[in-house]
Amino acid sequence: MPASNSYTQKFSVICEQTLFPLLSKELQDFIGTQAHQHRFTLQELRQICEISRDLEMWGESSIQQLWNRAQTESASGKAAKKIIINQLKTDWLAVKNRATHYPGGEAPALPLQKPRLERRDKKHLGLGFCPVASERTRCCNLMTLDAIDNCGFDCSYCSIQAFYHEDKIYFDQSFAEKLHALKLDPDQTYHIGTGQSSDSLLWGNKHGILDTLTVFARANPNVILELKTKSKNIGYLLEHEIPPNIICTWSLNTPTIIGNEEHRTATLDDRMEAARKIADRGMIVGFHFHPMIHYDCWREEYTQIFQRLQELFRPEEVALVSFGTLTYTKSVVKQIRQRGLKSKILQLPLINSDGKLSYSDETKQEMFSLAYRSFAQWHGRVFFYLCMENNRLWQPVFGYAYPSNEDFESAMKRAYTAKTGARVMA
Ligand code: SF4
Repeated sequence: MPASNSYTQKFSVICEQTLFPLLSKELQDFIGTQAHQHRFTLQELRQICEISRDLEMWGESSIQQLWNRAQTESASGKAAKKIIINQLKTDWLAVKNRATHYPGGEAPALPLQKPRLERRDKKHLGLGFCPVASERTRCCNLMTLDAIDNCGFDCSYCSIQAFYHEDKIYFDQSFAEKLHALKLDPDQTYHIGTGQSSDSLLWGNKHGILDTLTVFARANPNVILELKTKSKNIGYLLEHEIPPNIICTWSLNTPTIIGNEEHRTATLDDRMEAARKIADRGMIVGFHFHPMIHYDCWREEYTQIFQRLQELFRPEEVALVSFGTLTYTKSVVKQIRQRGLKSKILQLPLINSDGKLSYSDETKQEMFSLAYRSFAQWHGRVFFYLCMENNRLWQPVFGYAYPSNEDFESAMKRAYTAKTGARVMA
């Protein structure tokens, strides 16, 4: 790197406020050289490092290639820098907005980093309202129970990574006492899910977690307890008597997305086989397509799953099918770039949608409508809903919409309890 004067001092300060230190030596050398030659500002350096990171994660042409293509003879100094950086942004946007293509085969497996399981005493029972619900979306008022903190799976798009930054999985050592002490209104029906802060089945009955949840459900028949998972670890549920108000739901995605973006999770076949075994035990199951991802083969690959589900399951066995898509907060995008995994999860035409980064309404409507139409024979027999989406999408997708979150919540509870036979209190 050229010895220079005050800019080198300035550069050593500003580069700490960008992704520069996380880039490869080769990229640092290239960007460092251009920065000194063109005297990048903090904002310019930040943008160029983010573009460079994205191209690297997407496995697309490198920043050096785009930079060399953007070089101009027609200007010099600040004018040349402006032309080059604008061209760079244009090229990056073009790569970002074209149909995402996943080359054959799966992404390189992540290094097996055995998460450390730790027991700790949490001050409070992790029971609250769904952390991703917002007043801008039509929401089901799900209550979430953080039985375990952090997840052993590694989905590149997951917002959990913005909360937990280490490879430790925490079990609350007084979880059972806290949950058994929980006093609920017997005249209310509750819908409680355990799949938000971790995977509900990945750890099986580690530290008695499934024993505790089963006893809780049995003691509170007015609770619909949803165990949401991407796992095939159903041994405990096959070997124990499970009360009817526990439902098991799988997040499903295409093999392409599972192989490239949902690291360490069970394959699609394993998830569907596990769900089939659980339904054979008489338990009610459900399926979440969230996030549905828009890439060049999305239509064919999602349609295949929709058809397989209807061949494998009877609507009486299935409480719900939900659809949703990627919605990012800025902190999750920042976390994804900092990790720099091989992933195309940011190579998408995302726009500002209801305060978060997501697909346009047109793209969402196209995906959700195809999905819902594909389940025509289950309409009116299974509960369908959009998760974390604005109310304006419901009518065009389903032909109906709920006037309020409370109406959505009651309709969901009625539908689930009709399937689970749990007592309807409200
Ligand atoms: S619709 Fe989705 S985001 Fe909204 S409360 Fe329910 S689970 Fe949470």
